[in-house]
Amino acid sequence: MATLNGNSPSEAPLVIVVGAGLGGLSAAVAIALTGHYRVLVLEAASRLGEIGAGIQLSSNCSKLLIRWGCAKYLEPNVVAPHRGRVCRWQDGEILTERIMNPAAEEKFGAPYWHIHRADLHQGLLDRARQLGVELRTSTPVAKVRTGDDETSPGVILESGETLECRFVVGADGIHSKIRTTLFPGFEKPRPTGDLAYRFRVATADMLDDEILKPLAETPDTHSWWGPGKHIVGYMLRGKQMYNVITLFPDDGSLGDATRGTGTSDHLKEIYDGWCPKVTRLIEKAQESQLIKWKLMDLPPLEKWNVGRCVLLGDACHPMLPYLAQGSCSAMEDAAFLAECLKHLPDQLEIAADIYSRYRKPRATKIQMFSRDQRARNHLPDGPEQRERDAVLKNPDQQTRAHVWTWDAADGSPAGDWVTGLHGYDAEHEAVKAIRSEGLALSKI
Ligand SMILES: Cc1cc2nc3c(=O)[nH]c(=O)nc-3n(C[C@H](O)[C@H](O)[C@H](O)COP(=O)(O)OP(=O)(O)OC[C@H]3O[C@@H](n4cnc5c(N)ncnc54)[C@H](O)[C@@H]3O)c2cc1C
Repeated sequence: MATLNGNSPSEAPLVIVVGAGLGGLSAAVAIALTGHYRVLVLEAASRLGEIGAGIQLSSNCSKLLIRWGCAKYLEPNVVAPHRGRVCRWQDGEILTERIMNPAAEEKFGAPYWHIHRADLHQGLLDRARQLGVELRTSTPVAKVRTGDDETSPGVILESGETLECRFVVGADGIHSKIRTTLFPGFEKPRPTGDLAYRFRVATADMLDDEILKPLAETPDTHSWWGPGKHIVGYMLRGKQMYNVITLFPDDGSLGDATRGTGTSDHLKEIYDGWCPKVTRLIEKAQESQLIKWKLMDLPPLEKWNVGRCVLLGDACHPMLPYLAQGSCSAMEDAAFLAECLKHLPDQLEIAADIYSRYRKPRATKIQMFSRDQRARNHLPDGPEQRERDAVLKNPDQQTRAHVWTWDAADGSPAGDWVTGLHGYDAEHEAVKAIRSEGLALSKI
């Protein structure tokens, strides 16, 4: 680790990251890479190892992982999809198709990747350990202290122990204790009205099946959109595994819980009457794997910082999964924050404030886009759906009619949404933000 102002690594100021999910570990890696700080990650769970299934990583995120030196840990397990297709639920008609790779690299300077969540988590963990990040598991944090003129920031553990530090990052997920301490009156997460099932099928099994074979031959992403629900499939782990995510209306079967087991019969019932590829995929789902998730949401916070403490990832902006941007946004947060901490090591409150003010509008916009996308994916059959499908089938109309654009702050023409989403570079944006505040960049 490099040193700051002549400090040896053991004397470098300490940053505590609460939560070792994808957001927390990304923050740990990015902050350790500044060379200015020691990083300690506190995780409530006794064991690390992310459950879950596939994660789609667009170029806005893969470019950061590559810069952070994570590629060598991840590449053996990533799949770079060729095409992204949207299909109609009933007959599987392809409504639109977009080239994903190599176009992502050509347009946005980094690939589009699919990866198993556990592989991404392990890759970040390996890189964090290599950079000297310290990790304590079985360490639930109860509260945070944001620091003022008299006291330094720190965290109070559920055991009662207090750990002091120079800066705190709350990456403790949607049910964040750090958020509750910083903004006690703020709303609690609420159900979106949708549930998800995720499961995996071995591609070897699919290659033996005439209906599923085309899905297992080329690494494309398929989304089938239907009334009130949709389903997405793509390959993972060196194309050995096919990952399926299904989203459908909450039938109340989980009660107050946010996660539970499901049954094959339930899944079959939900997608009864869908096209043969979907129904055959569902027949292949193993009941032992069927975890049911309740999708939760939170309205945007007013800000993400108090004193020398900030929130990051799902703790401040949980994303509905309709745009597959939750982890990507958490990594953008991590990269932006690390640049602020790197360039403003003696003005950490200002660094926290810049991070919150400049990152929040983008994250809020993606949250809103994700909600719109839910409605768009799930249109009931009828005039609006036919209009949507006609636009999807006609690339010229897609460009003209597209619903979302990004406002360019400098007055240049607003970009289309894919460019805005995948072309963003969180580190460059942080440097621009610091400069636009009239502050000098660190020379170290
Ligand atoms: C069905 C589905 C599909 C998705 N697909 C994609 C996708 O394709 N692409 C994408 O980018 N995103 C996707 N997402 C979103 C993504 O999974 C999340 O947005 C992202 O993982 C959030 O990461 P996080 O680190 O902020 O929070 P979390 O993953 O929730 O991590 C929080 C961590 O903090 C720990 N913790 C909690 N409380 C405490 C405490 N008090 N003290 C210490 N530790 C604590 C937890 O144990 C956990 O390890 C999907 C989500 C769902 C539900």
